[in-house]
Amino acid sequence: MFKAIVVEKAAAGHEARLAELDEAQLPEGDVTVRVEYSTLNYKDALAITGASPVVRKYPMVPGIDLAGVVEASGDPAWSPGDRVLLDGWGVGESHFGGLAQKARVRSAWLLPVPAAFTSRQAMSIGTAGYTAMLCVLALEKHGLKPGDGEVLVTGAAGGVGSVAIAILSRLGYRVVASTGRAAEASYLQSLGAAEVIDRAQLSAPGKPLGKERWAGAVDSVGSHTLANVCATTRYRGAVAACGLAQGMDFPATVAPFILRGVTLYGVDSVMAPRALRLEAWSRLARDLDATKLDAITHEIGLGEAIGAARDVLAGKVRGRLVVNVNR
Ligand code: NDP
Repeated sequence: MFKAIVVEKAAAGHEARLAELDEAQLPEGDVTVRVEYSTLNYKDALAITGASPVVRKYPMVPGIDLAGVVEASGDPAWSPGDRVLLDGWGVGESHFGGLAQKARVRSAWLLPVPAAFTSRQAMSIGTAGYTAMLCVLALEKHGLKPGDGEVLVTGAAGGVGSVAIAILSRLGYRVVASTGRAAEASYLQSLGAAEVIDRAQLSAPGKPLGKERWAGAVDSVGSHTLANVCATTRYRGAVAACGLAQGMDFPATVAPFILRGVTLYGVDSVMAPRALRLEAWSRLARDLDATKLDAITHEIGLGEAIGAARDVLAGKVRGRLVVNVNR
């Protein structure tokens, strides 16, 4: 038997509880992983609370990422004792996920934990941090360089935002952090933000074009914020959009794209190809100062994950919530 968070469709609606599962209840897969850490991403909070239809099949173990040790493998690519991590691929949505002491998954979904990181550090980064790196890679592939000008990070005190700031500042960019939490200014500066702005400057309906400021941007907020970010991005600059914390809408005009040659990159972590994932994790091992992860991370036990989900949706959580599934 092992412990897991289980989401069920009960008579009263969507219900999440801490349960004991039998190994026989695990879904099909060729690798069984003894999970050490998982995390509480924004999407996991949606899955636990039922605030959005993230869960595709009931019952479900939520948790879109995990890190742990291979217990048994039917694929020679992995051996018992190997340190592995997993992000996305529908885990925690349509296949039992990481908020459990055990997981059974497809071998192709697993990546090795980079030698630079412990399992806990890998999950401090988690899907949010790996997505932040996918955004940075998109901007780099566009040709962005530190000398080009300021880079904006929205949703700055959240998981994607915190890791994006740490990576970009380490790479030498002048990072401007947009947050709704003025009290987190010193935290954002400690991660490497050169300037902190109030997200209210970006979150209301704006003009099709504004004063050009950003050479690049990482946006995890969407809605009017993303529209305003595009409208204030410099000629031939680029924006990497990965999130919808403000909203899924995109009330923009084509003006930034057709008059300033701005490029908007969509970033998805769930189905990203393996080669890109390997690139992102090797760059995280190289370009993220692991000592900053402590400031970004708050650890909770498995039993605390349900209560914490509400805090995530209320925007009260700073950085990353790592779940020690054995605590
Ligand atoms: P967090 O909850 O950790 O951070 C989101 C941040 O967004 C908050 O901390 C807050 O930052 C800001 N925010 C919240 N509500 C609003 C609002 N109403 N208006 C403006 N800003 C707001 O989430 P994550 O960092 O884990 O994820 C961020 C987004 O990215 C989510 O939408 C998530 O679903 C998405 N995502 C997408 C992925 C993909 O594959 N495309 C992968 C991972 C995440 P502050 O307090 O600083 O203002």
